[in-house]
Amino acid sequence: MKKQTQIVASGRKKQYTHGVVNPVVQRASTVVFETMDELQAAAKERHNRTLFYGRRGTTTHFALQDAVAELEGGAGCALFPCGAAAIAQTLLCFLKAGDHLLMVDSVYEPTRDLCEKILTRYGIETTYYDPLIGAEIEKEFKDNTRMIFLESPGSITMEVQDVPAIVSAASKRNILTVLDNTYGNGLHFRPLEFGIDISVQAATKYIVGHSDVMMGVAVANEKYWPTLREHAYLLGQCTSADDAYLALRGLRTMSVRLDQHERSALKVANWLKAHPLVDHVRHPTFETCPGHEHFKRDFDGSNGLFSFVLTQSTPEALKVLVESLHHFKMGFSWGGYESLITVNANMPALRSKTGWSKGTVIRLHIGLEDSDDLINDLEQGLAKFEEVLQRS
Ligand SMILES: *Cc1c(COP(=O)(O)O)cnc(C)c1O
Repeated sequence: MKKQTQIVASGRKKQYTHGVVNPVVQRASTVVFETMDELQAAAKERHNRTLFYGRRGTTTHFALQDAVAELEGGAGCALFPCGAAAIAQTLLCFLKAGDHLLMVDSVYEPTRDLCEKILTRYGIETTYYDPLIGAEIEKEFKDNTRMIFLESPGSITMEVQDVPAIVSAASKRNILTVLDNTYGNGLHFRPLEFGIDISVQAATKYIVGHSDVMMGVAVANEKYWPTLREHAYLLGQCTSADDAYLALRGLRTMSVRLDQHERSALKVANWLKAHPLVDHVRHPTFETCPGHEHFKRDFDGSNGLFSFVLTQSTPEALKVLVESLHHFKMGFSWGGYESLITVNANMPALRSKTGWSKGTVIRLHIGLEDSDDLINDLEQGLAKFEEVLQRS
């Protein structure tokens, strides 16, 4: 069955939906039992999509968990109040004092901060590696290396990692691999099929798709699922039934939204590539994107997210550019139906291993607006940007 069909059908068991199309929104703390036998039977099955206590989830959560586990091809899916919680939890769950973590240098900034500000306090040492390292990652291994964390394509700069090469090196040493798959979303990339142990996503982005819910998911293989599930429970990670419902509703239309995001983003990216003020565009389908060959080999598609670097800029001109755009709003996050722009002026601060000397990176999320409207908007914005540049 194609994944596009699966995300329509998954998580729609009758015990979740009670005979309508969608699962009911079942809000609960307490689950009540009539008999001792009933309670004991539920206790025995409490890990297994059985109503037991609100923190373990209700049928609304089970429906979403089934659907995401099926999408990513894992043994189970844990839900978290946001993507950052899913990442923090997965790291804390499998690392202990004295362990060494290998972290990709192009990682999402809050993940880097977690390593620096929290993992250090627990005696967990992090070193950063070049996102394009591939099989050479072996040279970074220490006796106590416990985990490799990947994010592909990398945040903002979009380097695509050689996942099979890294997994192969890790498996020889029994090192756990975790990948932030927010970009790949399960339809376009499925880390577990490449031997990654745990795939984490900010479902806040494309799964939810409407910029109205925070949600994180972590899908593990058979080996790591029992520990991930139990530790998430012990650390009190849970989400509201309403949010689980909205995330599942978002998932149902993810493939058509992604198709449109992908088409429009390619059109805008190609237009920008030819613009005289643009030095280069970092879109993983372009040959100029670092790691493009891995993208071509491993991914089934791209989406609305990409970056570009200007040939020159000043803070004043950048301010005029972003403030003159009508359809691109400034704001964090991405994956919703709307277009967004962020200016990343201080890239060197986000790189400890590989550095960055190419200047300001502008990241766009191409939403579901008409792509010609978006191009016209960028055209007039860049014209104003140029006027300011020439005056300075
Ligand atoms: C947004 C994002 C996160 C964090 O997700 P939240 O739901 O905002 O906590 C993690 N990783 C990546 C790559 C992201 O883009």
